[in-house]
Parts: sequence; structure tokens; C-alpha cells
Amino acid sequence: MDAENAAAAPQHGTRPAVPAPPDPAEDAPTLLVKIFGKDRPGITAGLFETLAAYDVDVVDIEQVVTRGRMVLCALVTMPATRGAEGELRATVHTWAEASRMEAEIISGRGDNRRRGEGRSHVTVLGSPLTAESTAAITALITRAGGNIDRIFRLAKYPVTAVEFAVSGAEPSVLRSALAVAAGAHGVDIAVMPAGLQRRAQRLVVMDVDSTMIQDEVIELFAAHAGCEDEVAAITAAAMRGELDFEQSLRARVALLAGLDASVTDKVRAEVRLTPGARTLIRTLKRLGYQVGIVSGGFTQVTDDLQERLGLDFAAANTLEVADGKFTGKVTGPVVDRAGKARHLRRFAEQAGVPLSQTVAIGDGANDLDMLNAAGLGVAFNAKPVVRQAADTAVNVPFLDTVLYLLGITREEIEAADALDGTPVTD
Ligand SMILES: [Mg+2]
Repeated sequence: MDAENAAAAPQHGTRPAVPAPPDPAEDAPTLLVKIFGKDRPGITAGLFETLAAYDVDVVDIEQVVTRGRMVLCALVTMPATRGAEGELRATVHTWAEASRMEAEIISGRGDNRRRGEGRSHVTVLGSPLTAESTAAITALITRAGGNIDRIFRLAKYPVTAVEFAVSGAEPSVLRSALAVAAGAHGVDIAVMPAGLQRRAQRLVVMDVDSTMIQDEVIELFAAHAGCEDEVAAITAAAMRGELDFEQSLRARVALLAGLDASVTDKVRAEVRLTPGARTLIRTLKRLGYQVGIVSGGFTQVTDDLQERLGLDFAAANTLEVADGKFTGKVTGPVVDRAGKARHLRRFAEQAGVPLSQTVAIGDGANDLDMLNAAGLGVAFNAKPVVRQAADTAVNVPFLDTVLYLLGITREEIEAADALDGTPVTD
């Protein structure tokens, strides 16, 4: 080994020095520079060019633009040169005046205080979102011991969606505190623990009838068989608890006996997707999610939906056909409440995704096991019993609002659509 290599040897295989994390006790003097005014290009660059003359370091930067007005906050270290603070203040004010902006400079110590334990994302969906409900929600966050660290808008269309980053309150405590406000003010509030988990969702499984589509498929078939009233009577009996799902399914399917199976094409054409369903699926697929449907309805319709929408998984009951006619029976084991949860587990296994990284969406009592088994269960325009049991509830009739619960903004959705020229159809 020559001298040069010998000198280099001790460094071989060692990692480059990583700066130590900041000492929380560190309490060096800092300057908070706040700039407010009409947003236009070059303001941020202008401020930092002005500050650069004083050789200060950036500790934090935040900027928001609301209706064309910007607030830029820069937290910087105090200039090292004695007496330079006064000069810095004067220079920044001169620059701001020339740029037609307002400046405020506040001296202090250190960085933001440490955020409290217990962090959540609180997503609020309102249509509209009133000042009154915002007041109630934010007051409840405070009462639950939480501090709002950040607020930003996720969407202004088709609903107003706002996310609050909250620290200092247990997510479960916050969730029950806010559930009451949601009901009282007609808004949807989802509380999700902060952390990587939220960004790790990889599989979304949806119910079909009254979730991904606006219809109940058995009713569409029943209309062709002329037995809508009988089907409705059985549905009502099931809702009163007189029949379980399997009994009611078999009883309703029996009424279809003798119906020409060719009506399947008509029923497929009659199915109406829920507004936002295409946007939800398209966006999830772009993000690399796998998407599945599971239905107490029929493969005669779900197979077609799977193909049309490019879904990864589908499971449903199959209407038995003999000699071109429905026999009034279903083949194989019935997909019921337990079956839906079983299919969710199977999809997750096939997708190679742990259950904790799945999202399930549904509206009926039939969906409850699946909603509870998933990492995140979303009750979509659901019956009260389902709403109360689920992690979170959406009560606006737009399926793409589920994206906001995952922290995806309307702007991101539209930018991705614009990039590949997807016409906005729903
Ligand atoms: Mg349903």
C-alpha cells in the first residue's frame, strides 16, 4: 500500500458524516421574516437574494397563496456580524417597498416548538363548508387537546375539502370528538393517524351496488322480469331482519327463473356509474394502486365492469343459466357479508399487500366485515349503522372524494388528467 492509499484507507467503507439532528435545546437567535402581498413571479427569489447579502442560513420556509395573495414566511439565523441585524431589517423593508409587498420582521429564538405527541390528518369535506362548521370543528380540535399545525385546501370541486394537520391529540379521541360535529353540521370529517401508513395504501376494494354504481343490479334484472314489487318486498323484509342476506338473495333470484339471459346486455347498459367513480379508479391506477370490486350482485355485471374499467380483481355471485334462461339459482358459494371480507383478504394476498395497507369502500350492512378488516374502511353514503361502525364516512355523492381522504388534491388529479389528455367526463 503506497502512502496515498494508506492515508485514504481509514475512510474506506466509512459513511460520509451525517449532520447530527438539531438539538431541541438549541436556542440560537433567529429572525422570522414575513412577506405579504400580491403574488407574482420573483418575490421569493427577490427576498432570498436580499437575505443572501447577510450570510444567514435558512431554518424554515413556508409559503401560501390564497386568491392571488401570498404569505411567505422565512425563518433565518441571525447574521453573524455584529450590528448587521439592523441593516438587514432596513434592506428587507426597502426591497419589500420597492416590490409593493408588506414586510414584518420578528426576532426571537430557535425554531418551531416541538409538535405534541399524537398526530393526525383531519380531512373535512363540506358542500358548502361554512364558517360556522369550521368554527365548531376547530374549537373541538382545541378542546381535544390538539393544536392545528397546518391547514391547506385539497379541493374546491366537487366539494370543498380541507386538511388540518393536528398534533397533541390522540387520533381516536379526536375522531370521536369530531364525529358528533360532523353529524350536527352536515359535513364529513375523517381523522387519520399521520405517518407513513397513510402513504402506504396499495389496494382499494369497493362494493358495487349503491357504491361504485348508483343502482342495485337485482332490481334492474327484476324490472325485466316484471317482479320489481316482489323483489322490493323481500329487500324490505331483509332490512327488517326477517331474512339474512343469503336467504333474501336466493328468494329474489328465484323470482328471475325463466327470464331470458339475453337481458344481461340490457342490464349492463342500464348500469349508471357513481359520479367520480372513473376519476377515482383512473387516479388510483396512476398511483400504482390495485383496485378491486366485490359484490353481493352478479358476475354477469361485475365481469363487464372489471373489463371496462381495467380493474385488477372482481368477485360476485353468478346467476345460473340453462338453455339461455336464468334458472332462479346462483352457482357456487354466496358472496355475503363474510364472503366480501374473505374476498378482500384474497385480493390482498394476491396483490402482495398486507391488510393494513388496504382501503375498503361500501354502503351496506353487508360491507361491514370488509370495512372493518381493511386498513381504512370508508362508509360511502351508507346507512347509519354502517356509518357508525366504519373508520370514516363520506356522505357526498361523489366517489372521487375518497382520494382526498388519502391526501390527494384535486389539482394533482386534474394535472395528471391534463398530462395524458384524459377528457374530464365525471
Ligand atoms: Mg351496496
